[in-house]
This record gives sequence, structure tokens and C-alpha cells, in this order.
Amino acid sequence: MKHKMKPESLMMSHGYKPELSEGAIKSPIFQTSTFVFKSAEEGKAFFEIAYGLREKHKGEKTGLIYSRINNPDLEILENRLCLWDEAEEAAAFESGMSAITTVLLEFLKPGDLLLSSIPLYGGSDHFINKILPKWGINVASFTVDQTKEDIIKQVEATGLADKLAMVYIETPANPTNDLYDIKGCKEIANLFSTPEKEILLAVDNTYMGPLWQHPLKHGADLVLYSATKYIGGHSDVIAGACLGSFKLMKRVKGLRTFLGNMAGPWTGWLLLRSLETLKVRMDTQAFNAERVANFLNHHNKVEKVYFLGNLKEEDGEQYQIKQRQCLSNGGMISFDVKGGEKEAFKFLNSLKLIKLAVSLGSTESLAEHPATMTHADVEFAHKQKLSITEKMIRLSIGVENYNDIISDIDQALEKI
Ligand SMILES: *Cc1c(COP(=O)(O)O)cnc(C)c1O
Repeated sequence: MKHKMKPESLMMSHGYKPELSEGAIKSPIFQTSTFVFKSAEEGKAFFEIAYGLREKHKGEKTGLIYSRINNPDLEILENRLCLWDEAEEAAAFESGMSAITTVLLEFLKPGDLLLSSIPLYGGSDHFINKILPKWGINVASFTVDQTKEDIIKQVEATGLADKLAMVYIETPANPTNDLYDIKGCKEIANLFSTPEKEILLAVDNTYMGPLWQHPLKHGADLVLYSATKYIGGHSDVIAGACLGSFKLMKRVKGLRTFLGNMAGPWTGWLLLRSLETLKVRMDTQAFNAERVANFLNHHNKVEKVYFLGNLKEEDGEQYQIKQRQCLSNGGMISFDVKGGEKEAFKFLNSLKLIKLAVSLGSTESLAEHPATMTHADVEFAHKQKLSITEKMIRLSIGVENYNDIISDIDQALEKI
């Protein structure tokens, strides 16, 4: 049997041919807006394929036309991203938000119903609950404590069950690490699907991906990433990605062409560089997070720790979902300090190594205060219900030496 290489072994070479670029071992930055056709016939053929005017002949490739449609740095990046999630096709975007909004706009139309989990990333929450309704799209949301039966009843109670078009979830939820069951969500989508209309499940996999969770394997139709986070991983680029089947991605890429929100060549190139170290970075982050969580679990100034590694068999369903769909405990930890905003701020202001900033998944460790920062916009009642209270701190664990991260946390907790 042919040996199948792991994605991390292919991140330096997959999809790139040095002989097409003067033997350069790394892909050059194809900083170009347009591409020269060898002949008018070739230009015609490229357009026929790009615009779907005819099927490809056997062995025929999509030609390079114009960098809004495609560019080698993006093509190579998209090919490599497919390896982690074992997706048929990927599309790179100029931000996570542009990947998310393009998917929502492509698969929803006025009158439709969107079913979404809460909490969602602030930007996604705003687009779904404030902007989509302006376009006549209805939204219903569910929380982690609702059973599948509750959610189904809730959809039926809207009177719009036949208009359901998409289920959209984020798991683990930010910042509480609550888990949603991907397979269970697809079962809900299937229940309302008809032979004419398949209801899609889209999963924002930014918190765990692309190494630690593969939603497509659990029934998701589309996977979304803010590539600004783990994929980019160095806090120096904003980007996004969407992955799925050829059939669905053709539509996503089609709308991307006309919205013009694809990533540029420089962003594509930066992400190619990041992907080479993705596995070593994420392995180290998970290794460090395990140790930091263990330290927090035993600290007398810490009231509660929200970390996937803390789930035990007696936690029932949450534990089972983790066993089924998560390949790691991840690199994100939230915790409640004893006290409130004053104590939480004292901690944040006392950190020396860990940076006080939003975002996550980067090489440097970050800390922030969800209630007043990333989740400031969430309704107060929702915040209380979701345990996003004034005493909560969210940590994104980086690749520093874990003893240094722990010692920084320790000295900052002492200041409270
Ligand atoms: C950051 C983030 C986004 C938005 O991505 P941008 O690259 O900032 O546009 C979406 N979802 C999640 C879970 C995120 O953390």
C-alpha cells in the first residue's frame, strides 16, 4: 500500500512546482493583478471554465486569469488547507468575517430561517442578528443546555420550519468552551431537509482548527476559519477560509469573485509560511495549556476554570461530545477569579509576559476580559446565562516556555 503522508509533512511542498518558478524552493509572491494568456484560444478556454460555461475536458486545469478570480499563492494555500480537514475544496478570504458573511449571503435568501448557536463570535453575532434581519432573514438561536428535542420544538414554534435553510454553530463556544454536538446539529438539519432542499450545517472551527477538530467528518457541510488565529498564528495577518465539497465551494467561490473579498497574494504567501509550523505551534500550545490549566485548577484565587481538559466522565454529554469530536483539549482557557471586575482588571494590568489583547491562537500568550471586551455587545441576560461575568478572564496560550507563562500568571494573581 502506498504510504500516505501526514499534512504536516506536506505543508512545505504540496501544490507547488519549483520548476515553474525558476527552481525557487519557496513559492514567490505572485504580486500581480492579471496573467498573460499564451493565445486568444487559451484565454477563451480559461473564461469558459471560470464562468462555468462548459465542463472541464479531461485533465484540463483552471487557468490563471486575474487575481480576483485566482492567484498561485491562493491556489497553493487552498490546496494545503484541504489536507488538514480532508476537504475537497477551500477558498481563502481577506478575513474570517468575509468568509463567514459570504457563506451566509450565498446560502440564505429573504424569508429564510437561520438557526444558530449562542454565544457566537461578536462579529458573526452582529451580522446574523443585526444585519441579516434587514435583508428579511429570520434567526432562531439555541444554547448548550437545550436538548435536540427542545431545539426541534423551538424551530417548529417559529412557524418557519419549512424556511429553515442553514444551521450555524461555533464549537467550542467562546469563551466558555461549551461544546455543541456537530453530528447532532446535522441530524436536526436533516430532519427539516426535503429531497428538494438540503439544510446545510456550517461550523466556525476557529477555536480548534484545523488540527484539533474536523467538522466535515462529523457531518458539517462547510467549515469556516478566521485564519487570523491559529492558521496565521503570529498576530500579523487578517485572513479567513471556508472549506467543503466541490459542489458547495463552487457557489462560495462564485460569490467571492463578485464580492471581491478574496485574500491577496501577500496574505496568501504569509499563510503558506505559517502553515509550515502549524502543527509544532499548536502541539506546543496544547501542551502548555494543559500545564497552565492544571496550575489554575489548584490556585486559591481562582474560582472556576473553563478548559476542555477538565471535563470528566461524570460531566456526561459534554464529555462524550469531546471524546467524539475533539482531538485535543486545545489552547484556550477561561477562568473566574474570586471577586469581580476590580480583581480581574488588577490581574490583567499586572501581567508582564502575557499581552493584554483580544484575538487568539498566536505564538504569544494573550489575556482579555470577555465581559467588557470581546463579548461587550452580548445582552446582559445572555452574559449571565452563559457565565460571561465580570470575574472571567480568557487566556490564549502561546508557545513560550510554560513555566514562564505560569510564573507570570502566578505573580499577577498575587497582586489581587
Ligand atoms: C476572530 C474570529 C472571527 C473573525 O475573524 P477575522 O479574521 O477577525 O475577520 C470569527 N470567528 C471566530 C471564532 C473568531 O475567533
